[in-house]
Amino acid sequence: MNQKGLLVIISGPAGSGKGTIVSRLRELAPFDFSVSATTRKPRPGELHGVHYYFVDKADFESKIEQGEMLEYAQYVGNYYGTPKKPVEDALAEGKNIILDIEVKGALQVKEKMPEAIMIYVLPPDYETLLARIRGRGTETEEVIQKRMNEAKNEIKTFPRYDYVVINRDGGVDRAAQDVLTILSAEKMRTLRNADIPENFFR
Ligand code: 5GP
Repeated sequence: MNQKGLLVIISGPAGSGKGTIVSRLRELAPFDFSVSATTRKPRPGELHGVHYYFVDKADFESKIEQGEMLEYAQYVGNYYGTPKKPVEDALAEGKNIILDIEVKGALQVKEKMPEAIMIYVLPPDYETLLARIRGRGTETEEVIQKRMNEAKNEIKTFPRYDYVVINRDGGVDRAAQDVLTILSAEKMRTLRNADIPENFFR
């Protein structure tokens, strides 16, 4: 059997609830979580090294130059990027790893690692999206507007994803189960089990 871990990319607009789904998934099954670097300031309760590595612009740019980033992108005025080594180490050790990243970065990863499973999370409709992002109460009106604009642009890239999961109000458990169903099927893909024929008659 191919023992390589699954590389799972979860994207979705601000307010899609993807962060909550990722937390639930990590309670349900063993997943490493890729801690991104960002130049955004921490929100209340966010911890360096747990939610993000909070770095300044010069630090971030030097990481890019050193080739330490698997991908990176600018989102609403800040850099966000995935450190390469933890992802490579997890997969080599046979662990599953989840990346919660936006679309431009997701497409960069898929290009480098076509075996990545790309899942797009959406709320049921636009009103729910708006209500959730406003309800969070951590962003200014200006940032909310910019994030809504990003969401409108992002959603156009939706067909580049492998799967879509709808996160209904109160439906985080269902959405997390949907992701687990996707991953169960993915493990049975022939391309992830390419060594079976050669080992079968041993
Ligand atoms: P937030 O500021 O709300 O934590 O994240 C804003 C957006 O940046 C979200 O869509 C999130 O998925 C994305 N993001 C977080 N980390 C990364 C990363 O390492 N790379 C990329 N490309 N996007 C990221």
